Amino acid sequence: MKVIGHFINGAEREDSGRTQDVFNPATGEVSSQVALAAKSTVEEAVAAAEQAFPAWRATPPMKRARIMFRFKELLEQNSDAVCRAIGSEHGKILHDAAGELQRGIENVEYACGAPELLKGEYSKDVGPGIDSWSEFQPLGVVAGITPFNFPAMVPLWMFPMALVCGNTFVLKPSERDPSASMLMAALLKEAGLPDGVFNVVNGDKEAVDTLLNDSRVKAVSFVGSTPIAEYIYATASANGKRCQALGGAKNHAIVMPDADMDNVVNSLLGAAFGSCGERCMALSVAVAVGDQVADQLVEKLKDAMGSLKVGIYEEQSNDFGPTITREHQARVIGHIDSAEDQGARVVVDGRHLTVPGYEQGFFVGATLIDGVTAEMDSYKAEIFGPVLQVVRAGSMEEAMKLINDHEYGNGTCIYTRDGEAARYFSDGIQVGMVGINIPLPVPVAYHSFGGWKRSLFGDLHAYGPDGVRFYTKRKTVTQRWPSSAVRENAEFSMPTMK
Ligand code: NAD
Repeated sequence: MKVIGHFINGAEREDSGRTQDVFNPATGEVSSQVALAAKSTVEEAVAAAEQAFPAWRATPPMKRARIMFRFKELLEQNSDAVCRAIGSEHGKILHDAAGELQRGIENVEYACGAPELLKGEYSKDVGPGIDSWSEFQPLGVVAGITPFNFPAMVPLWMFPMALVCGNTFVLKPSERDPSASMLMAALLKEAGLPDGVFNVVNGDKEAVDTLLNDSRVKAVSFVGSTPIAEYIYATASANGKRCQALGGAKNHAIVMPDADMDNVVNSLLGAAFGSCGERCMALSVAVAVGDQVADQLVEKLKDAMGSLKVGIYEEQSNDFGPTITREHQARVIGHIDSAEDQGARVVVDGRHLTVPGYEQGFFVGATLIDGVTAEMDSYKAEIFGPVLQVVRAGSMEEAMKLINDHEYGNGTCIYTRDGEAARYFSDGIQVGMVGINIPLPVPVAYHSFGGWKRSLFGDLHAYGPDGVRFYTKRKTVTQRWPSSAVRENAEFSMPTMK
């Protein structure tokens, strides 16, 4: 059976150590094995990145950007292979994988503007004959640790920007769907990236902990679940590294009485069930303001959900695919059981779905649960499956309080025709990414992505302008060229502009 190894110093590397199964989640079969890097392998990758750093740092940003332009072309030319790698290991349908890849490519496009982004700041005459400027220098070796749910897009949030800023990179992708990262590593090489500048180590906790504890790694970008994000942030920070760690989510949509209900239903279907609900921006809670709105919403959703198609990634007419693993399938079903046990009403039940011909797949059907309350375990948890829960609120204030009290603050949305209500909502809601009649308000590549509360640990958001700041350190130079005729006396008071 094929063993997916690592990509270190410009070449694929086999590994004779520990391995883990990679599944095709639609069939339930093992499709390959992925190597789980030992400490020494990770250290080798860090050493390659460290060695490549001085020359890469000295490469003009325009030249780095040209490699990114070529990489973008290659991603587009090879999109079918990348999307198939995503579909076969993650299970998402090809049209959805193509959307993921396109959102990733947009980050490459933004990174192509590196010469402009790195221009710095300049002030002439901050004092007599004195000029001052701030420049943005690379950090050195930086690491990215990424989740299973966007095997191409989330790495692309990180490494294009890190590389054009002059850093070298070690990526530790999710061990559940590692192939997209390996393909991208090969395409970067083909684009002309020097060996050692970008490396991939596959692995689990051992690989991650090695990166966190290696003093040669200057910064860590992480995306994944909240408990791990918190651990990564605490450990990396304690080790003196810069860290941004994006965690889990529970994204609510408020449905106001004046919303266009047919639009709401269409919009919620995609946002709740697309990618099997395995998106950190999935809308998993609809908060209906008023019982009348809730009754109407539930009825319309129930009807519309009857026509959703669940199945394999190759079939483009499918709406979504399986969950990632059998354990995750069981966890999602467990959340539905618990909501029911705690008094909620399962209106559409996806627990017993089987897809003909794929009976061993890790499928869960689209599920709608009404009468969910803030005390229920299924409300508190991030389910990360195709489950939409409806909470009934008496007022908009009550709906907003529910969102503000939740431990996560990644994304949210309000459906309304009332501009004043929308403005009040966007101003007061304690969430990092807000949609107004937009269900998945994922910022475009030239803004930055990040949640609030326990959805992000760190200061700077991912990609966009925050990405430039995260992957560079500011140096401020103040300069004077005194003429030999002028000699100054020693000055013991704090220098000021006189
Ligand atoms: P995960 O936390 O299980 O894994 C993420 C990464 O951490 C993987 O590379 C994994 O190998 C590593 N890891 C796992 N356990 C570890 C441990 N004990 N010590 C060190 N490293 C460990 O997350 P996942 O299941 O792959 O992804 C789904 C989660 O990611 C969801 O919670 C989702 O909301 C979140 N996510 C968040 C965002 C965001 O931008 N906020 C985006 C995508 C996904």
